[in-house]
Amino acid sequence: MTMKFPSFKIGGIHPPQEKTTPADKIIHVELPRRVSLLLKQHGGAEAAPIVAKGDHVDRWQKVAEATGFISAPVHTPISGIVKEIAPVTTLQGRQATAITVEASDADHLADEASRLEQRQPYDYSRLAPADIVGTVADAGIVGLGGATFPTAVKLSPPPNTKAELLIIDACECEPRLTCDDVLMRAYPEQIVEGIEIMMRAAGVDNAIIGIENNKPEAYAALKHACDDFNMRKAAEIRNKANTESNHLARITITRLQARYPQGCEKQLIYALTGCEVPSGALPISVGAIVQNVGTAYAVYRAVAMREPLTERVVTIAGAGNYMAPIGMRVSDLPAGEGAICAEKADVISGGPMMGLSCATLDAPVTKGLSGICVVEPLCYDPEPCIRCGKCAYACPMGLEPYLISTYGRLGYAPEAKEHGAMDCIECGSCSYTCPSHRPVLDFIRLAKADIRKKKI
Ligand code: SF4
Ligand code: SF4
Repeated sequence: MTMKFPSFKIGGIHPPQEKTTPADKIIHVELPRRVSLLLKQHGGAEAAPIVAKGDHVDRWQKVAEATGFISAPVHTPISGIVKEIAPVTTLQGRQATAITVEASDADHLADEASRLEQRQPYDYSRLAPADIVGTVADAGIVGLGGATFPTAVKLSPPPNTKAELLIIDACECEPRLTCDDVLMRAYPEQIVEGIEIMMRAAGVDNAIIGIENNKPEAYAALKHACDDFNMRKAAEIRNKANTESNHLARITITRLQARYPQGCEKQLIYALTGCEVPSGALPISVGAIVQNVGTAYAVYRAVAMREPLTERVVTIAGAGNYMAPIGMRVSDLPAGEGAICAEKADVISGGPMMGLSCATLDAPVTKGLSGICVVEPLCYDPEPCIRCGKCAYACPMGLEPYLISTYGRLGYAPEAKEHGAMDCIECGSCSYTCPSHRPVLDFIRLAKADIRKKKI
């Protein structure tokens, strides 16, 4: 009898996974001599520089400060001189302000030597939840699953809400990407410790990791780490003889059906708890906080190792998974011959379902960059909608994509809003299934932009 794995309620698709990148090891990249650190590589307000041209900065030094409640600071992965604070070209071809740091030979050698030092973990056991949240904020940690929303904000639910459960997205449902898979195999104990730190920060006793059933090695590694954690916590409670807190913290892991978009917040919450987050509401409305597995690892490094976020794993599809310093040029990643070809028109940053076309690869790695994929060029023209309903059947949010898309194309923003345009999670399942090759999601994005612009 085949085992039935939980999943979300409606819609969804099964694109070919094509996860051909070896996920058994992370390739640690040599520190670059030059980095360009974008001031805005997170959700919310742009960070403000706190260094000036000509300053010498040390590795991990904060170079830009958060400028509001929803913002994040930026740190440098290398020591060196601030060469300029000026616009640079991003992967999508836009101009955005960055702090460029250049290392001398001496800086570079000192940084590489300090990288090899064995450092002792910091004892954070007596930190108050607010102090943990403060450390996470100060380390510039944002959601590494792609959304880049500041993690500290998510760990601080509004006063009229109560967090009951921490949900960890380990699905990595996007085809071709394996950056989370390789991280889970390499650092399961550290990820579980990062989850425990976030549970303490948010004041919850339970966490569930949701992972798709197509990652058996990562599942086995995390399951082992969770079992160890749960046994240790149970022993602590017994040994304390109720003199301190007798809350039993538990982290469990659940395998889910491999089905796109399993890792999106509302779909994941339903699959793991059966709760439906209402239209327009946040996960906290049902008592849940959702964080990505890569974010859990970054939280571990920030709180237990006192390291700000200055590197992340980037999948170069078909070539490898690289621990890449943030700010280094994507084209400088040692991706292997032919894996990245800047001349090709269809290079995507992120996965093929939700990723964005790259205009150039001479652009900095950012906190939100999960991967680079080369996809086949689309070689067909859109045809008229035949009202087949396949897009509606595929939509995991229960929307009528063909209708919202038509409103978007015609500029009917109020009608698009009335039909739930703002509930669209931009998963791309509608465009993927359309037999007429219509750019359904592109027109829905137009509708959403129009609704925001007109403040409807
Ligand atoms: S992109 Fe939006 S409309 Fe299209 S399937 Fe996904 S949620 Fe539905
Ligand atoms: S899938 Fe394409 S052709 Fe079918 S209803 Fe949707 S937009 Fe129209």
